[in-house]
Amino acid sequence: ELSHGAKEYSEVTVMEGKKYLRVMQPLYMEQGCMKCHAWTRLKVGDLRGATDVAIPLEKYEIIAHDNTKKLILIHLVLWLIGMLSIYFFGRKLIDSERNNKASLEELSMRTQALDQSGSAIMITDTQGTIEYANEAFLQLNGFKLDEVLGRKPVIIKSHLNPPSFYKEMWATISEGKTWKGEFKNRKKNGSIYWCHETISPITDSNGVLTHYIAFIEDIEERKAAEAHIKQLAQFDALTNLPNRRYFHQKLEEQIIQAQKKGKLFGLIYVDLDRFKMVNDSLGHTIGDSLLITLAERLMHMNHTPAFVTRLGGDEFAIITELGDTKEDVELCADAIQQTIKQPFFIENNDLFITASIGIALYPKNGDHSEALIKSADLAMYGAKINGKNRYLFFEPIHGDFASETLLIENGLRKAIDNNELFLVYQPKWNTKENRFIGLEVLVRWQSPTLGFMPPSRFIKIAEETDLIINLGEWILKEAIIKMMEISKIIGFIPKISVNLSPIQFRHENLNSMIKDTLLQTNFPANKLELEITEGALVQDPAMAIEKMNELYAYGVTFSIDDFGTGYSSMSYLKKFPVSTLKIDKSFVDEIIDDPHDRAIVQAIITLAASFKIDTIAEGAETREQVDILSTLGCHAIQGYWHSRPIDYSALVEYFKNLEK
Ligand code: C2E
Ligand code: CA
Ligand code: CA
Repeated sequence: ELSHGAKEYSEVTVMEGKKYLRVMQPLYMEQGCMKCHAWTRLKVGDLRGATDVAIPLEKYEIIAHDNTKKLILIHLVLWLIGMLSIYFFGRKLIDSERNNKASLEELSMRTQALDQSGSAIMITDTQGTIEYANEAFLQLNGFKLDEVLGRKPVIIKSHLNPPSFYKEMWATISEGKTWKGEFKNRKKNGSIYWCHETISPITDSNGVLTHYIAFIEDIEERKAAEAHIKQLAQFDALTNLPNRRYFHQKLEEQIIQAQKKGKLFGLIYVDLDRFKMVNDSLGHTIGDSLLITLAERLMHMNHTPAFVTRLGGDEFAIITELGDTKEDVELCADAIQQTIKQPFFIENNDLFITASIGIALYPKNGDHSEALIKSADLAMYGAKINGKNRYLFFEPIHGDFASETLLIENGLRKAIDNNELFLVYQPKWNTKENRFIGLEVLVRWQSPTLGFMPPSRFIKIAEETDLIINLGEWILKEAIIKMMEISKIIGFIPKISVNLSPIQFRHENLNSMIKDTLLQTNFPANKLELEITEGALVQDPAMAIEKMNELYAYGVTFSIDDFGTGYSSMSYLKKFPVSTLKIDKSFVDEIIDDPHDRAIVQAIITLAASFKIDTIAEGAETREQVDILSTLGCHAIQGYWHSRPIDYSALVEYFKNLEK
């Protein structure tokens, strides 16, 4: 290139493995050169050579390389930051898009579930303003959506629930807890219904309370069924007055009130004179009308008594209001007599009726219901034999119950130690599967001085004197010992039901006594059932639930004795771990002849089944009763039809016969 006239030539060459930059410039002949280089025969201006400079490139290459690297690196970092930002922001965008979509989907799914739920649902903000209500809610309460949104739940408030009830509800939910309860609501058209409501707080992801959600279940039908049972079980079908069962309950309550307030009251027994004659001569229809009219009159006397009841037939009982003197009671007795004296005009017959009236005063003539009833009954009998048409206060000549009570109490104190008590066992039987279910343990007392004492006489006294605590413990232990003993003969441990008096149930050591007894005897807890009455549960339900749950967790089961005679509230019973209801003997007695009693039994069985609670009928004595019970759906029987209560040796025989 130089020979062709280029002024400089450069190239990068590799020499001995290293890079060099070679720069060459031409050398031309000049006049001064001729002195020494004439021998080359070159003329002035001819190209005679070149200068060649080789610059090692290694050093520069490193620097250059570093720079590029730095440049590349900076670019790369910037690029990466860019890409990452794009990636992250992109991701975020996609995610939130996705989340939005998912939560929207979820939300719509949930809303749909709420919308379509059969339970009425409403959602309010923390101030109670309704933000959402589903179709079931609108249907139940008869509102349109726009009549509900933005309003407060007061629109369905019935104003029939006690204020304390709302207090408790708010206290619970404002603490962030779920509240459940049964109460009355009002529909748009004003009608009232019972509902079961569950209110739960809703919090956001930070745990801050934002809303309340309420599920409302209409339990009107169930409440109606319960009320129906109560009405049937507690009221007389002919006169609509409270019946004997209700009367006993009321009398106990009045005694407690009188005791608390230091007051007295009267129990007045009324028995119509010659009523049989009316019935026989004029017929039952007129007799019934007379009873109905009399019931109405007694309910609307000037001296309104606390409680008027028809005990049966032509017998009525009246409990007077709490008072301070005997005269208060006398006024009521006068009023009763005047009322009965007024002629009855029935189907064109003028009827004149008189009555024999006996009065017992609490606490003077008896400090517990049985004594009081007996006193009133005896006084009435006294009035009858003293010429009828009069009232008579109880006098000691009519009988002395206080001293009998004392004798029983004293005798009972020694009965356990003296081996005067023993147990009998009544088998429970499944009529559908022909199978033994278990045994009810019943106590017996053979007193050397008082003779044979039935438990109906001495259990009450044992309860009043707290002797029942020791007695109850003895019964449980004795029953278990006997069952362990018999298991060696028959090869299995029979399930037993032991009666628990309300006094025992309330006693603080009950659970530990039972647990200790089971541990000491090795008796399996699931072979023990305890029979308690509803009355034992209502006094302190919280305590009852706690006690029962503890034993239930241990394996012990519970049945409700004499069911139907007390409160008969299934929704109430649901709170307690109850396995079986024992339908009271008084219903079974009349199940053939009295359609009302049959209806009660049917209602109890149906309702119990819906709560998955078993039923057993007490006191079934005949084949017909057993058959009807079976038709109604109750296949568990305890009564003379299958077996009377039997003692230990008879029980051994019973099991031997079962095997055959
Ligand atoms: P309950 O717990 O309702 O016991 C059932 C009662 O009905 C028993 O009377 C039993 O003998 C009787 N019974 C069973 N089947 C029939 C039948 O087909 N016809 C008839 N007429 N009666 C039948 P009992 O043994 O006289 O007991 C009466 C009540 O005394 C018991 O009623 C219970 O409240 C109390 N009691 C009995 N034993 C004990 C006990 O060990 N502890 C406690 N706390 N109370 C007891
Ligand atoms: Ca019982
Ligand atoms: Ca019973």
